[in-house]
Amino acid sequence: MPCTRHVKRIHILLPLVLALLLTACSRSARSEKHERQVFAMDTIMLLTAYGENAQAGLSAAEATILSLEAALDPEREDSELYALNHAEGASVSVSDATLQILETGLTVWERSGGALDFTLYPAVRAWGFGGDGEYRVPDDSELSALLALRGMEHIALDGHAVSLAAGQELSFGAAAKGYTAQAAVNAMRDAGVEAAILTLGGNVQTLGTKPDGSPWVVAVQDPFDTGSYLGTLSLDGGTAAVTSGNYQRYFEADGQIWHHILDPETGYPVRSGLCSVTVVCPDGTTADSLSTALFVLGEEDALAYRDRFGGFELVLVTEDRRVIVTGGLSFSEHGDFTYVYVD
Ligand code: AMP
Ligand code: MG
Repeated sequence: MPCTRHVKRIHILLPLVLALLLTACSRSARSEKHERQVFAMDTIMLLTAYGENAQAGLSAAEATILSLEAALDPEREDSELYALNHAEGASVSVSDATLQILETGLTVWERSGGALDFTLYPAVRAWGFGGDGEYRVPDDSELSALLALRGMEHIALDGHAVSLAAGQELSFGAAAKGYTAQAAVNAMRDAGVEAAILTLGGNVQTLGTKPDGSPWVVAVQDPFDTGSYLGTLSLDGGTAAVTSGNYQRYFEADGQIWHHILDPETGYPVRSGLCSVTVVCPDGTTADSLSTALFVLGEEDALAYRDRFGGFELVLVTEDRRVIVTGGLSFSEHGDFTYVYVD
């Protein structure tokens, strides 16, 4: 497929939005930069905080990430999601994290006509995109059997009590990192950090402005050449920028490339004409849920979704090398693309 023309064959989730930290280190404690790298959720995460509370903030963020990883991994037998997936339709009391991801996911599921669907997990796992599974191409009959129980209309919420249809299984692969980045930034703020940027794979979340008062600048990865970028975004504090792309996780088999974002109708990797979708908005869970849903919907429906519901901005990259940037973004071009700006 065109989007993967120059993609290196690296079968791990690569960071797709690279934080460019442009301020030179200052000697003052307020602007001193501290970094920490964490490996969680199959992703290398880079946490950067400034100022005298930075180390405490980084530790709080790391603890938050590790505890959410434990709660939200459907393959861990002691996780909350495992309990929900194996409750056979009974109601399970869940944490604020699960509840918030479910509520956001249900909104996006409904508004997108089912393009985001956490109940695709059995199909995701069959492809090897869940947990530590081996990559393989399931056949039509296997996929249609695995999709028989899909549908978020079967999820019932009553306060913190949640139930699924018996046999349904959920994963939050499409939204968990967005929630986690948001929660980690909140933990930093509670620890007294005023300026920070977190990059969790394709999920960036900012806190405050850089110590010199300038906005954060992040690069949007080039899906055709993942070592490069196609532009930069200037972000204010308290903003999430989340990218979903078909180059982030994929394998090759039978002479084809199979990527990790599935069409809920068929269970096959979706071919929507898009290579990547970057969503910018204040809330990380919303941005992550939307990036996956809008990738499935494709260019026209993604822009129509934004026109109708609003509250976020977009950078869409199409297979024919157009970069579509929506109105409220501060974007600088970099590379050989056709750049299109829409209101
Ligand atoms: P993201 O990188 O945020 O777009 O999320 C993609 C991940 O979400 C995949 O690796 C799967 O685990 C899962 N997934 C794939 N397709 C869908 C879908 N249509 N709805 C919900 N989750 C999905
Ligand atoms: Mg997502």
